[in-house]
Amino acid sequence: MEKFDVIVIGSGPGGYVAAIRAAQLGLKTACVEKDPVLGGTCLNVGCIPSKALLHSTEQFASLSKAKELGIIVENFRVDFLQMMERKKQIVKDFNEGIAFLFKKNHISSFQGHASLISPNKIEVKGKEKIELESKSIILATGSQSIELPFLPFDEKQIVSSTGALSLEKVPKKMVVIGAGIIGVELGSVYKRLGAEVVFIEFLERICSVMDESITAELKKLLEKQGMSFHLSSKVVSAKKESNKIKLQVEKGDNHVELEADVVLVSIGRKPYTKDLGLEQVGIKTNEKGFIPINGRFQTVVPSIYAIGDIIDGPMLAHKAQEEGIAVAELISGYYPQIDYTTVPNVIYTSPEVATVGLTEAEAKQMGLSLKVGSFPFSINSRAKCTGELEGFVKVIGDANSDRILGVHIISAHASELISEAVIAMQNRIKLLELASAFHAHPTLSEAIKEACLAAHKRAIHKG
Ligand SMILES: Cc1cc2nc3c(=O)[nH]c(=O)nc-3n(C[C@H](O)[C@H](O)[C@H](O)COP(=O)(O)OP(=O)(O)OC[C@H]3O[C@@H](n4cnc5c(N)ncnc54)[C@H](O)[C@@H]3O)c2cc1C
Repeated sequence: MEKFDVIVIGSGPGGYVAAIRAAQLGLKTACVEKDPVLGGTCLNVGCIPSKALLHSTEQFASLSKAKELGIIVENFRVDFLQMMERKKQIVKDFNEGIAFLFKKNHISSFQGHASLISPNKIEVKGKEKIELESKSIILATGSQSIELPFLPFDEKQIVSSTGALSLEKVPKKMVVIGAGIIGVELGSVYKRLGAEVVFIEFLERICSVMDESITAELKKLLEKQGMSFHLSSKVVSAKKESNKIKLQVEKGDNHVELEADVVLVSIGRKPYTKDLGLEQVGIKTNEKGFIPINGRFQTVVPSIYAIGDIIDGPMLAHKAQEEGIAVAELISGYYPQIDYTTVPNVIYTSPEVATVGLTEAEAKQMGLSLKVGSFPFSINSRAKCTGELEGFVKVIGDANSDRILGVHIISAHASELISEAVIAMQNRIKLLELASAFHAHPTLSEAIKEACLAAHKRAIHKG
C-alpha cells in the first residue's frame, strides 16, 4: 500500500492549493479527485466559466454604447456557440495548468471516489479499487447546489448553476429562483443575451449578505437593464406544460403564476460529503451538513482535517485557498493566521459589487459609534473618461479609533478596487491614513480616498 505524509481529498481551490503548499513544504503528498478533471467547482462549474460568460456578454452589451465613445460598430451579433467554446477552452487550459503544477511539485494524483476507512487510510474507487495510507488526511470535498423538492434539476429546463453555464441556446424567458450572488450573475448573462429574466426572492432584498445601500443600488441598476424582481415571494409549486414550466408564486396574500422556458434554481449550496466514509471514523456533520473543526482545521479525528466549502463560513474560492495554505502549514508545524474579518466578497454584475468587513447594519448592531463616508463615481474623473459612472464607494469607520470596519463598493472594476481595502483592514489602517496615501490620478481608486475623507467631512471633490 502506498504511503504518504498528506492525502488531500478533492482538487478544488481548497484541495489543490493545500496539496501544492504541502509539497512545497517537503511533505510526500497525494490528491484524490473523483471527477475526470482537476479544479473542482470553482474551475469547472463555478467562478471561472461564469466569469468567462459574464465577460463575453458584458463586452457584447457595451458595444451598444460604442457610438457614444465615437466608434461606429455595425452588424454585431452574438455567436453563442463560440462564446461557450471560449469558456470551455479557458477551463481546459486551467485543468491542464493544475495537472502541470501537480507534476512540477511531485504530487501524486489519483482519479476516483475516495472514502475514509480509518484515521490514516482511505479507499479510492477509480478504474480499480486501491487503498492509500497517510499520516494526515485533508478533506476538501466542497459543496453542491440545493434543489427544491418539487423542482428536481434536469439541467436542461430546470437548471442549477451548472446547467445554466452550459445551456444549448438562449431561452426566451428565464425565471431565477433566488436573487443571491450566483443568481444575479447568471441572470445578467442571459439578460444581456436577450432573454427576459425574472427573479423570485424569498427575502425582502437581493444579495442580502451585502450592505443594504449597495444592494438597493444594485437592484435599481439591474432593473434599469431590464431584469425584474418579485421580492418577499415564494415558489410553492411547479408543473411542466407543453415545454414550459409554470410556477405558482406566493407574494404576501397574492398568488402569481409565472411561466418560463428555463428555471434557474439558485437558492444556495450545501456541503458535499456523500459516501466520504465520515461515519466509518466517527466524524458527525452539524445540522447544516458542515464538518465541525477546531482552530487548527482538525476534525474530531486529529489526523483528519477539513477546509473550504465543507466547513462553516463563506463559500468562496479565496477563503478555501487561504485555508488550504494554512492547513498545510499547520501540519508542517507552522502557526499561520487567517483573519476572517477581511474576506472580500464580490458580485460580478455590471456594475460589480465588492465588499469587505462589516455592513453598516452589522456595525450598528454591535453598538459601535460610526463614521460613514461615501463618494459617487459620477464625479470621479476616471469614471467620467470611461463613461462608467454608476455606483459609489461607502466606507465605515469606528468613530473613536478611526479604524476602518468595512468598505463597500458598487462600480465598474469594483472586484479589483477592493484589494486596497482588504490590505488596509488587515493592517488596521485608519480612515485618515488610507486617505493620506497617494492614489494615482485619474483612477477609480481615488473614490476610496475621497470616501475616507468624506467620513471626516473633508472630501475635496464633493459639494
Ligand atoms: C456558479 C458559481 C460561481 C461561483 N463564483 C465564485 C466566485 O466568483 N468567487 C468565489 O470566490 N467563489 C465562487 N464560487 C464558489 C466557489 O466555487 C467555491 O467556494 C469553491 O469552489 C470551494 O472550493 P472547495 O475546494 O472547498 O470545493 P470544490 O471546488 O467544490 O471542490 C471539491 C472537489 O472535491 C471533489 N470530491 C468530492 N467528494 C469527493 C470524494 N469523495 N472523492 C474524491 N473527490 C471528491 C469534487 O469532485 C470537487 O472537484 C462560485 C460557485 C458557483 C457554483
